[in-house]
Amino acid sequence: MRFKNSLTIKFMIGIAIITIVLMTVNLLWNIRQYNFQAESEMKEKAEVIAQQLIATRSFIALKQDLINANYDGGYEFKHLNPAAVGKGIGEIFNGYSGYKFKQTRPIVRDPYNAPDNFEREAMKQLAADKNLKELWGYDEIDGNRVFRYLVPLYYDESCLSCHGKPVGLNDISGYAKEGFSSGEFAGSISVVFPMARFEAAQRTNISSQVIFILFMVFVSIGLTYLMMEHIIIMPIRELTGKVAELGRGNLAAQLTEIQTYDEMRSLAEEFNTMASKLNELYNGLEEKVTERTALLSDANQRLLEQGSKLQAMNAKLTETDRLKSEFLAVMSHELRTPLTAIIAFAEILLAEGETLSSLQQEYLQDIFESGHQLLSQINDILNMSKIEAGLAKINCNQIDIKEVLNHLMHSISPLVSKNRLTFIVDISADIPHIIADREKVIHIFRNLISNAIKFTSNGGKITISAALMNDQDKVPEVVVKIQDTGIGINQEDQKYIFDKFRQVDSAEAREYPGSGLGLALARNLVEMHGGRIWVESEVGRGSTFTFVLPVIAKGC
Ligand code: ADP
Repeated sequence: MRFKNSLTIKFMIGIAIITIVLMTVNLLWNIRQYNFQAESEMKEKAEVIAQQLIATRSFIALKQDLINANYDGGYEFKHLNPAAVGKGIGEIFNGYSGYKFKQTRPIVRDPYNAPDNFEREAMKQLAADKNLKELWGYDEIDGNRVFRYLVPLYYDESCLSCHGKPVGLNDISGYAKEGFSSGEFAGSISVVFPMARFEAAQRTNISSQVIFILFMVFVSIGLTYLMMEHIIIMPIRELTGKVAELGRGNLAAQLTEIQTYDEMRSLAEEFNTMASKLNELYNGLEEKVTERTALLSDANQRLLEQGSKLQAMNAKLTETDRLKSEFLAVMSHELRTPLTAIIAFAEILLAEGETLSSLQQEYLQDIFESGHQLLSQINDILNMSKIEAGLAKINCNQIDIKEVLNHLMHSISPLVSKNRLTFIVDISADIPHIIADREKVIHIFRNLISNAIKFTSNGGKITISAALMNDQDKVPEVVVKIQDTGIGINQEDQKYIFDKFRQVDSAEAREYPGSGLGLALARNLVEMHGGRIWVESEVGRGSTFTFVLPVIAKGC
């Protein structure tokens, strides 16, 4: 029997708590009722005793003449006045009943009648309020709880011969008269009942009820256990066992043991239906899985075949691409030699300008500039092909950036002055010599500067600046900026101008000559050195191309 956390134990605790709470409420209610009943019983008894005593006193008061008459018909006081008779009866009564009563007054003649604290307080209240016909309450005398009851007494005519006027004159019994008048508060009959008997009876009552409560708790717990086990837990255990069987894969599991005709039965039937459906589904599923697995392995096979075809095509394409790059590299190399000769001869002829007509000079200038342009594009193609064919290597040289710019000025200055551009070079004094591939660095500068010239209209400004960036945690770098006041590039186009063959204007509307290779090559060359390049530009206001090279290039 597993009790821990079981439903049965939870129900048993619940029922025990409910039973205890209900029975305790019932017990408290009974105690209250019992106290109420006991009090009204005691009060009734005390009332009877007091009334009897009052009646006796009245009788004695009425019969005084008779009691005090002597044989001669004269008067002889027999000491049997109401007070003396009351006291005497009280003494006898108190002796055998266990109850007590006495007559008491605020100021007493006989100390036996003297009031105790309870009586004194009660008499104050009774004297103050004539409508108060009785008073009762609880007190403790000699360590025992007692019920107390008081009724008021008032002077009448029969009392005045002893307690009336004139004050101070001795009455018949020899006590000085107090001077009271008829109707004044005289004192009380005080009755005392010990509570021991009631308390004992109540204790017996409470303990028998507690025993009954415990009995009821045990009975309800026992009944809950039996009912839970037979009606709920056993069927649930059956169900759990079958669900576990299902979980282990026995889809033929069926609940047949539950024979009741209640909700458990419906649950068992629902379970059986679910298990059968699962069984059917599973069998169907197995067939489908086999079918789909066959289809999948077919598809997989086809995919494998296509994969290997693709691989073969890819290899072919790579080879073709390599051959193309090789061809371009060879071709552009071959083209460079005659082109360099054309440029050189054009330059020589231009140098002897005086013997030529101005038209001839103009043509020669065109040959010179176009040759340079063509050479630059061929150089771009050649370099790009080398990089793509994996033939490009970095030759590490010590480079002075100022000297590189001076070298470039030779081919740049004619274009600068032709377009009437302001050309500013601002190289900071602390720039060190860098270790990089001189040819490639020249190429980067040439491509960026010729773009700046090409896209800046007459009268514009080009500024080239270079500075050293020597942050503590980083390797020292040289930052170069080529800034122009040209047409600028919109935000969208800035994203792809560094891609191969990408130009902002379409081929049909081409306004500026170029192959679309310059920036792609510049980026490749910068990255080969371990640097980075980017552009900031605004249409109509100009562009700033910035590239950063480590002072000692990657691989040097
Ligand atoms: P291209 O040979 O056409 O100049 P690039 O790769 O050098 O090829 O440049 C790509 C495109 O980027 C150019 O066609 C041009 O639209 C834009 N571009 C490059 N530099 C500048 C610049 N300084 N100002 C404005 N546009 C530029």
